[in-house]
Amino acid sequence: MNQNSLNPTDDAWLEIGNERIGRGSRKKLELFVARLFDFTDMVIPVEVVRGRKPGPTLFVSAAIHGDEINGVEIIKRLLGRSGLGSIHGTLIAVPVVNVFGFNTNSRYLPDRRDLNRCFPGNNLGSLASVMASLFMNEVVSKCTHGIDLHTGAIHRTNLPQIRADLDDSNTRILAEAFGVPVIINSSTRDGSLREAAANLGIQMLLYEGGEALRYDEKAIQCGLHGILSVMRTIGMLPGLKSRRHKIGEHVFMANKSTWVRAPISGSLSTKIKPGSRVKEGEVLGVLSDPFGEGRVEVKASKTGIVIGMTMIPLVSHGDGLFHIALFDNSHEVEQRIEEFDTESHRFTK
Ligand SMILES: [Zn+2]
Repeated sequence: MNQNSLNPTDDAWLEIGNERIGRGSRKKLELFVARLFDFTDMVIPVEVVRGRKPGPTLFVSAAIHGDEINGVEIIKRLLGRSGLGSIHGTLIAVPVVNVFGFNTNSRYLPDRRDLNRCFPGNNLGSLASVMASLFMNEVVSKCTHGIDLHTGAIHRTNLPQIRADLDDSNTRILAEAFGVPVIINSSTRDGSLREAAANLGIQMLLYEGGEALRYDEKAIQCGLHGILSVMRTIGMLPGLKSRRHKIGEHVFMANKSTWVRAPISGSLSTKIKPGSRVKEGEVLGVLSDPFGEGRVEVKASKTGIVIGMTMIPLVSHGDGLFHIALFDNSHEVEQRIEEFDTESHRFTK
């Protein structure tokens, strides 16, 4: 389906960060956030690619959580694609939103605020709030569509997945177009970018894949492939002559997920991987003390697919160990994830 909603705001000139960018041009610029106490200017780097022909305006952002770096690599590869100059519409690429966290390998801003709880922000508020407000005003509010790239939090890995509000039919089309097998239907959280974008009527996806502070080649390729697929679906790029799968085919949606938590503190032995199907009551791993004693089995509370898990084997009582998404047809989902893994290497060719 071509959802090419011509963007009424896709004017001949795009004004962003004190720059005016005409159609058919490409420009890097910096959005000034604040000067730090060591006189370093904190700026958000942006690259704008404008096609000659009008079309949607899409932002692709990463590192809103500063340590979630797979998306930075995804955007780098996206910007290196040949043929980007012939897009219809405008791409606004923001590889590092939380520049402070990115430089310090941290999820947060200096005051430990989570930027993704500070939207839409306020230019008289905290540093995080100022940053959120700048990003909303200079980037998000100028777009028709958005894709925000994340990974699991520190020491947690996520199966490549889309999180989106599937009650919105247009967003659902984008989520299916992204093409990863697992979509989590999730309402937005207070202060999140997704909530703020939805309030402006912007269709937005959140992509999760891999672990913080690590490059995960599979998650990077899935993310890049997904963005290109969304760009084709909204008419920014020409459609592929033959698509291996039709949009929405072999894509599965979960409305619920649950965490299996550690019943005691201990060292975890497990063979479970993201994408594994687990059955209610199945033993997912064993916790034991440093003497190998006091063994306690960790059992799945529900049947479903593991979409995220801890990467630290030393856990405290109550830590989230396995994140399980619940599907009506988890057998089919597991099978599709396996097929998808073998297809992945062809993605970027
Ligand atoms: Zn994140």
